[in-house]
Parts: sequence; structure tokens; C-alpha cells
Amino acid sequence: MSYTALYRKFRPTAFEDVKGQDHIITTLQNQIKANRIGHAYLFCGTRGTGKTTVAKIFAKAVNCEHPVDGSPCGECAMCRSIAAGTSMNVIEIDAASNNGVDNIREIREEVTYRPTEGKYKVYIIDEVHMLSIGAFNALLKTLEEPPEYVIFILATTEVNKIPITILSRCQHYDFKRISIETITDRMKELMDTEKVDVEDRALRYIAKAADGSMRDALSLLDQCIAFYLGQKLTYDNVLEVLGAVDTDVFSQLLRKVISRDVAGVLDIVEDLIMQGRELTQLATDFTWYLRNLLLVKTSDNIEDVLDVSTENMMQLKEESQMIETDMLLRYIRIFSELSGQLRYATQKRVLLEVALIKLCTPAMETSQDALLDRIRAVEEKVDKAAENMQERVVYVNGDGAAGEGYPGGSGAGASGRGRGPKPELPNAIPEDVQEVVKNFRSIADEASGMVRGYLKKARLSLGGDNRLLIVLPDSLAASVVGREDHRQELEGLIEQRIGKKVEVEVRYVEEGRHFEDTFVDIEQKINMEITVED
Ligand SMILES: [Zn+2]
Repeated sequence: MSYTALYRKFRPTAFEDVKGQDHIITTLQNQIKANRIGHAYLFCGTRGTGKTTVAKIFAKAVNCEHPVDGSPCGECAMCRSIAAGTSMNVIEIDAASNNGVDNIREIREEVTYRPTEGKYKVYIIDEVHMLSIGAFNALLKTLEEPPEYVIFILATTEVNKIPITILSRCQHYDFKRISIETITDRMKELMDTEKVDVEDRALRYIAKAADGSMRDALSLLDQCIAFYLGQKLTYDNVLEVLGAVDTDVFSQLLRKVISRDVAGVLDIVEDLIMQGRELTQLATDFTWYLRNLLLVKTSDNIEDVLDVSTENMMQLKEESQMIETDMLLRYIRIFSELSGQLRYATQKRVLLEVALIKLCTPAMETSQDALLDRIRAVEEKVDKAAENMQERVVYVNGDGAAGEGYPGGSGAGASGRGRGPKPELPNAIPEDVQEVVKNFRSIADEASGMVRGYLKKARLSLGGDNRLLIVLPDSLAASVVGREDHRQELEGLIEQRIGKKVEVEVRYVEEGRHFEDTFVDIEQKINMEITVED
């Protein structure tokens, strides 16, 4: 069975089928009825709110041989050829890929010719904000004196990027985000037509997730149907497909947090992880849950603002009595921070658990200062963990035991505060070290057997206390070169050559990383300076 996406299959072909933009439809229909059609329209609004759909219906309506009450009849030759996409009167341009001056010049030449059939040539320019400055200027010339048989419909999601000179020549229509109610009703209609059995709650959840975009709602619905083809689409199914969590879970979680039941909280986390929930999404959704709770707590008559079911509202009201406003604010802050951190973290579960334990820990409530201190301490820990992740360098000790002093343990707690500082150039490289670096390759040639081989691949950097870092590509090489006797041999060779003692430390580049991630290449820097001096 071939399957046509709902959005395509049910794309409105008449004004009556367009949902949620009544103010615009009425105005356009009135213009057509009164024969007072403009020459330039600007349709703005977020994606999936019907801009190009309305533009196409409008193009049909102005060309229709027998329009009915400002709507296209859908039957005449013009209506049918426009619907089939074969009419020369409707020209759709995607400015995202045709944004140059030449594309618009082409249009300017074309508009000098009258339409061979129908009344109007309609140019629909989608994503018009993507035009180059030159293209806008070319367009402006046409908009200044448009032939009477030409209509421009410019559509955009970013009206602030349209030059004022263009704006001032267009009739301006704002496409609103479509309400959850309207989207739900439309989907219900379509599901009846398609004979798909679906729970109202499920549709409502999808409508909410679509955030005002009918197109997004229908493609989410498509996904869900495809997943449960031939079965009843339930609320739980939808949560499953969209990777979301039922608000009941948030309610349970919050109640455990309020009663400071850490074990209970961690049990819920365990369950969610077993269900394969996406933790970043989970944190974001829980933050919204807390935000709704805060609104319920702090304002009256919030029902109209919050889009939650009656039962959820009862639950929120009950919970709002169980918690103080400042606690809620703190919860929200901790979770907003967490959302930011999770995006880049590898140990999402640990961070989530830490955040929840923070919420549960009563000591933190006692004083504002203590609270801030504790948070600061946690942040420092997280930062430090991140730095350690960054370095991940093994110090090779004199006795050759690689791995001791490995910083950061098993790599827990990447913090999501970026990737840490890049290694910086030391301000000044001591002359002794410079001297060694300049001669290092020939010094290395004098080393004995195996060490000499490994040193060919060594790179040089500067360590603390102006030690020379000899960085090897792997731990095996580092354990050989770093052995006490070998290191002493190397320091001896250096002392012989430059007449001074320079301390050497052997390190290696952690697997999966590059030398440059952690070290500054002082050899390159010094050699560069020499070249410049020459
Ligand atoms: Zn018609």
C-alpha cells in the first residue's frame, strides 16, 4: 500500500479548508469580491502556518472563471490547470535557492508579457528574506510600477530581514501560530476521513508538540500512524513514538522530590532509562512542568494560559500547594542549567541524577549562602571533570609505570561548558629550552637503540617549571622513553650539548585525540621564529 503524507494529501485547495487564519482569509476574499486586488502581498509567520497554501488558493481565485463568494470554483479550466501545476500564470520561486540578481531580472523581463490565459500572473516568492541586496533592489523596481496583470506574493518566516522599501510597498499579513484546538480538530477530521482509529488525547498531544504549525502536526501524526499502522493510535503510542514522557511521571517525580525521597527519585530515573527515554528531552519537559507549576502557584485564572487538561490542572493545583515559590524557582534554575549541560554531555544519566539529588537535599535549603556555596562547589567539580576530560594525558613516572596519577578517573562528568580552553602559547620559552629544541633532532640521534627510534616520532612542548615535554604518539613509546635510565640518558645528552641541565618529562597523546588538542608545539614556534629572523 502506497502511503501519501497527510500534509500533501490534505493540503487545502479552497479557502474554507484553511484552518486558523480566518482574519486573513476573510480579507482576501473580500478583496476578490470587490475586485480590489493588490499587486504585492507579504505573508509572514512561522513555518507550517499556511502561507504558500493560501498564496496558491489566492492565485486560483483571482484567475478563476466563476469564483464563488471570493473562492475559486475548482472546476473551471484555470482552476484545474493551476491545481495541476501546469498553468503559466502561477510562478513559484524558492528564494533560498534562487536568491541572486539574475533570478529577479528574469522575472522583470517576464512580467512585461501579458498572461495568455486567465487574468493574472501570480509570482509566489517563498523565503523571500533570503534574497541578496541586489536582488531586493531589482525586485523593488518591479514593485514600484507593476503591470496591472501581475501580483507578487512574498512569503517569509523572518520579516525583520526584509528591507523597509519592500515592506512599504506590500500589503502585510501575519499568519498566526495555529491553536492546539484548531490543529486537534483538523487532525480529527482527517483521521475520520482516513478511517484511522485514534484517541483524542493522542491528537491533542501531537498538536501541542507541533507548536502552532499544522505542517509539523501532520508530519508527526504521519510518523505515529506509520509506526502503528493498522492499530488504534493511543496516547501512550504517541508518547512512545515521539520519545516523550507522560506528565504523570513528572508528577510522581516531583512528589518524590518534595518528600526528599532520593531512592524513589532514582528508581523513577531507572525506569525512564529502561524505557529508552531521551534524557535531554526529559530534562526540558520537566523544566516546563515546573514552569507550569510556578504559573499555577503565582497567578489566578491561569487555566486559559496553560494548555493542560482539566485533570492535569487539578494535579498542578494540588502540587502547587505542596511547594513554596522559592523552592520552585530553585528547581527551575537547576534544571535549566542541567538542560544546557546535557546537550553536550556523555554521562547524561549521572548529571540528571546529580541534579535531582540537589533538588532533594534538605541542607541546601537552610540558607541562601550555603546554598550558593554548594552549587558553586558542584560547578567547580563539574568544571574540573571537564578539564580532566580535556587533558586526559598520562604522566609517565620515572619507574616506567604508566597511568599513575591519571586525572579524572573514568571520564565521568563532562560538563557541557564548551570544550575547555585550547592550549595556549607560553609567554616566554626559557633560553635553555629553546636551545634544546633547536638541537633536539640531532641530540635524539645520539640516543641509544630503541629510544632513538621512538624519539623520531616525538613532539616537543613546554611543561610546568619550564620542563621540556617530550610527547610521544602512544603509551608504549612513552613507557620506553620515560624509563628512568632512558630519561637520565637523554638529560645527560642534553647537558653535554648545551652545557646546562634541562629537566625532561615524557608524556603521550591519549588515544583518539591529537597532539594539538592538549599541547603547544614549541618546536614549530621556535623554528618559525628562526625563519623570520633569517
Ligand atoms: Zn475556477
